[in-house]
Amino acid sequence: RAKASPLRSWSRFLPEMDEEMRERRSLQADLRLAMDRNEFDIVYQVQCAVSDGRVLGYEALLRWNHATLGEIPPTEFIGPAEESGLILPIGEWVLRRVCREAASWANPYKVAVNVSPVQLVQPNLPDIVTEALLDAGLSPSRLEIEITESAIISDKLRALHNLRRIKNLGVSVAIDDFGTGYSSLDTLSSFAFDKIKIDRSFLMGVKKDSHSRNIVKAVLGLGRSLNLPVLAEGVETEEDLELLRQENCHEAQGYLFGRPQKLSSSDLASHPQADDTEPDQRKSA
Ligand code: C2E
Ligand code: MG
Ligand code: MG
Ligand code: MG
Repeated sequence: RAKASPLRSWSRFLPEMDEEMRERRSLQADLRLAMDRNEFDIVYQVQCAVSDGRVLGYEALLRWNHATLGEIPPTEFIGPAEESGLILPIGEWVLRRVCREAASWANPYKVAVNVSPVQLVQPNLPDIVTEALLDAGLSPSRLEIEITESAIISDKLRALHNLRRIKNLGVSVAIDDFGTGYSSLDTLSSFAFDKIKIDRSFLMGVKKDSHSRNIVKAVLGLGRSLNLPVLAEGVETEEDLELLRQENCHEAQGYLFGRPQKLSSSDLASHPQADDTEPDQRKSA
């Protein structure tokens, strides 16, 4: 009897794998064209003080309006962009674009930009940040970089070096989606973050289950010990907010305060409305 080849035992999966791979390839091919075709856009979500609701800043979030498929969420294209390396030119575009837009705002709010782990370990990231700030004429103190918790373990030394250089510019750094990764207390303190963002998955369970609430409390305790402000993501209801108030959480972000939306400089002369309308300003390019 002939030995079963490893390929043959896999073959029943091949059609699906093939299909998936083709979809990924085609998505990546489209991503490659997206910048030239002007399909990317930035929306901003407000970040507020828990105590009195005042605006503290905005998080910039990337949007891709695909020519035929329409809006594709970042959760679907950031991964493929990272795998293909396309996140590097895309991430640079985001940094430059956000710095330019923020520089034109009537009020000097802070702006937070998500930086991928793939960008974080590139030796030239600090230079890219420097250039984006200089070209836009944006004060470094207005820029914050958000790094997801998982990012800091891949190439810790390089990441550490880059973040030091970026912080030396006067840019602040937040750890994003905190509670979903594996950072040790040692890692947390050696990276010298300026803010902890609690992942929104913990807010989603916070009313119903004491487990999530305890995690939120624990992160707030950690923030107090490290002397770091804590921002809770995914705040959707007054109830969420009340709980955060009781626990002395500093900052909050979520649909309760506003959905991510396009901002023009005139919007920023005063506090933009919590947006309950559909963004209809999407480019039809
Ligand atoms: P993130 O950085 O944790 O951003 C917060 C996400 O939560 C955003 O999703 C936002 O729309 C959503 N969100 C905010 N408030 C609420 C709420 O109250 N309820 C619910 N259900 N969701 C809320 P979005 O814009 O789809 O982005 C998803 C993720 O994609 C981001 O998570 C970030 O990791 C990544 N991403 C977005 N833009 C960029 C970018 O420019 N560069 C990189 N590298 N990653 C990005
Ligand atoms: Mg973020
Ligand atoms: Mg987050
Ligand atoms: Mg997230």
